[in-house]
Amino acid sequence: MSLHIPFDNSYARLPDAFHARVAPQPVKAPRLVAFNEDLARILRITPGEAQEMAQVFAGNALPEGAEPLAQLYAGHQFGHYNPQLGDGRAILLGEVVGADGVRRDIQLKGSGCTPFSRGGDGRAWLGPVLREYVVSEAMAALGIPTTRALAAVETGEEVIRETALPGAVLTRVAASHLRVGSFQVFAARGDVASLKRLTDYAIARHYPQVEGPMGLLQAVCDAQARLVAQWMGVGFIHGVMNTDNCAISGETIDYGPCAFMDGYHPDTVFSSIDHAGRYAYSNQPGIAVWNMAQFATALIQQMADRQAAVEEATAIVHAMPDMIQARWLELFRRKIGLGTARAGDGDGALISALLDLMAAQGADFTNTFRALGTAAARERFSDPAAYDSWEADWRARVAGEPDPLALIRATNPAFIPRNHRIEAMIEAALGGDYAPFHRLVSVLAHPFDDQPEHADLRRPPAPDEVVQATFCGT
Ligand code: AMP
Ligand code: MG
Repeated sequence: MSLHIPFDNSYARLPDAFHARVAPQPVKAPRLVAFNEDLARILRITPGEAQEMAQVFAGNALPEGAEPLAQLYAGHQFGHYNPQLGDGRAILLGEVVGADGVRRDIQLKGSGCTPFSRGGDGRAWLGPVLREYVVSEAMAALGIPTTRALAAVETGEEVIRETALPGAVLTRVAASHLRVGSFQVFAARGDVASLKRLTDYAIARHYPQVEGPMGLLQAVCDAQARLVAQWMGVGFIHGVMNTDNCAISGETIDYGPCAFMDGYHPDTVFSSIDHAGRYAYSNQPGIAVWNMAQFATALIQQMADRQAAVEEATAIVHAMPDMIQARWLELFRRKIGLGTARAGDGDGALISALLDLMAAQGADFTNTFRALGTAAARERFSDPAAYDSWEADWRARVAGEPDPLALIRATNPAFIPRNHRIEAMIEAALGGDYAPFHRLVSVLAHPFDDQPEHADLRRPPAPDEVVQATFCGT
């Protein structure tokens, strides 16, 4: 059997201003580490022999129909505008339309230099590639919109970071790689023709039901509001919510220094470069709004009646905090087993009281929610008396709910990709042992199932296992 990818490219048809045509740079000795057969089926990709797939997913051999290119974009990084970023270490091979009718990008990440590399080496090392593979696939299984991982290969070459590390390439699959920064770059240059062209392209590809730039803004605000509420619901901290990492599709993109919280605290930050906590857990809703304000600012540059557009865009962006709050409440109600809404702010207060208690006692976010309504919940608290009092209020509220325990188990995962497990998995892979990687991938594919034989993966880190900081994948 020979690998076949049914390419059907559209981004490559856009004008030259949108991209640079560039092929991946071949590597010395590619070896296939992982191939995602379930995803391949959705994409209607026919797998080939491991050696052939290693060549293709390392960028050594171009599959038929590929039109490799690097995309241009800009972006605000930690609040500061960078007028030109672009794919510095990623190459879009092309698009496929899946069995589900969805068009998706097939992109190699870590595949060598492009005109946008800005002094970087265009490469990735094995750790972040495996991390993104595991975490993005876990997110998909949790039901959260995300880019996915089709394949990972080792390159057989070294990448120099603080030390020499094994190089790797990830094949990333995304509804598209259009970002807020894709619009910003044209808006900032005053290239209105390209901005209009991109707006039309994004609408046709992602939101065909909407009309015009303001329709697109509304749709992306909705998608981002839903997304950030879902992140909050699983204790996910993206870590680098720059506008170049904010996808128009509403998918989670760019798994650099991201992490899931163990013990709950709203101020949690992992990223080693996020000194001010700009992208801390509880800041994420506000940053999502800030990013949409940048998107609005870019979109407006193409509007004939600028004043009217500013007013309309402002109204849309200003409605976003309430939208996020509504999504958050809807989700956290279900997390505590409430299938029905009750008027007033009683439910919000009940949820906040639990979170305050968890923060004060450092209770494990995932395990506490999963255990609610059972004796195991109170064991998460060092001072169970405070929890008992909350539980009494909760019992009074859930009385009459159809099946709170079933809802709790369907909404709160048993398994998340815990940081210390990811670090240990990477350590093992560096030593040539991929068993922990494959185990994480397979257990996290079913995060809502108990899988008692894997109970050790549910444990929060012991004090000496706690990961203090995470790093960008560069
Ligand atoms: P990221 O932090 O992954 O969102 O990347 C931000 C920007 O830096 C993007 O334009 C990347 O393409 C670029 N970049 C990151 N790592 C590298 C690298 N090793 N070589 C070249 N460009 C890179
Ligand atoms: Mg990025």
